[in-house]
Amino acid sequence: TMFTAGAMLALAACSGTSGDTAGGEGGGDGGLIGVAMPTKSSERWIQDGDAVKEQLEAQGFKVDLQYAEDDIPTQVSQIENMITKGAEALIIASIDGTTLTSVLEEAAANDIPVIAYDRLIRDSENVDYYASFDNYIVGQQQAWSVLNGLGLVELDGTPIDGAPAGPFNIELFAGSPDDNNATFFWQGAIDELQPFIDAGTLVVKSGQTEFEQAAILRWDGEVAQKRMENLLTSTYSDGSKVNGVLSPYDGLSRGIISALTDAGYTVGAEWPIISGQDAELDSVKAINSGEQFATIFKDTRQLAEVAVTMASAILNGEEVEVNNTTDYDNGKITVPSYLLPSQIVVKDNINEVLVDSGYWTEDEIKG
Ligand code: BGC
Repeated sequence: TMFTAGAMLALAACSGTSGDTAGGEGGGDGGLIGVAMPTKSSERWIQDGDAVKEQLEAQGFKVDLQYAEDDIPTQVSQIENMITKGAEALIIASIDGTTLTSVLEEAAANDIPVIAYDRLIRDSENVDYYASFDNYIVGQQQAWSVLNGLGLVELDGTPIDGAPAGPFNIELFAGSPDDNNATFFWQGAIDELQPFIDAGTLVVKSGQTEFEQAAILRWDGEVAQKRMENLLTSTYSDGSKVNGVLSPYDGLSRGIISALTDAGYTVGAEWPIISGQDAELDSVKAINSGEQFATIFKDTRQLAEVAVTMASAILNGEEVEVNNTTDYDNGKITVPSYLLPSQIVVKDNINEVLVDSGYWTEDEIKG
């Protein structure tokens, strides 16, 4: 069934009042839900964990929320623990999407439904649903950010008449190769950038145009900083300048910004256009100060709501609403998915998108 996010969130609100089970105001039966998050080193996952926990508790569930600090064995044993403690359902944002196959066999043996949260869990039949954003569109939006900053397209990708011919030098970064999202972001972005590369308007001066060359394991900002330093030394010591950087995550963008600053770039005249993702607070500040051009806002409160609604519907034997049943093949099955929309944030719409929605306060952004 096709539902808009709004309709689904309305459904979620309804199910909060129709519960006929004991234990809380919502559909929860007082049972335990295990929530496995990848790391606290990135703000977004803290927002996700808090939102999921809060909303599950409001539905009358108990919550075991764990962070694995990007260590795969830790995440596996946290999930094993949740199964041992009798969790009724699991909501999992994986570190490496391919490493949970055997622990999910245990979950299945105990009839515990599994919801993949934000990142698809791969190589397992035992994934019931996937709650995420439209990750291909996120990638397109990252490319449109860079192209818009260079004056080539509108923020929705519409070409601008009389746009400059360039050539502009750009460099490309990708996410962690073990994260299924990283290839979706990359594909969406490359599909938008390629025509400009083919036309000679954009030049990837380092020649590093393959995903494998651009990928940053575990989304590590320090590794991105090192790679940017190396690119500046290897490719731009002839006095040429990098004009744009495709970055798929705010934490990488911050590393890239440090490398540029250390190499003597200053905000203003020749500072490059840099994209991002997650609307992390420091990066929103960097957009305000002109260091970062844009980020992609994915409302973690909405994602939490989708996952919590899924869990509660499964446990109450209700139909689970999905809006995509074709795109997320995990190597074993195509996982029924609910994909939320994302938004590009630039300096001009910070207030409208992030403050008016209550995601960040004006004080937090200014402070
Ligand atoms: C998420 C992004 C995030 C990245 C790094 C991805 O799976 O979808 O929102 O920037 O992981 O944490």
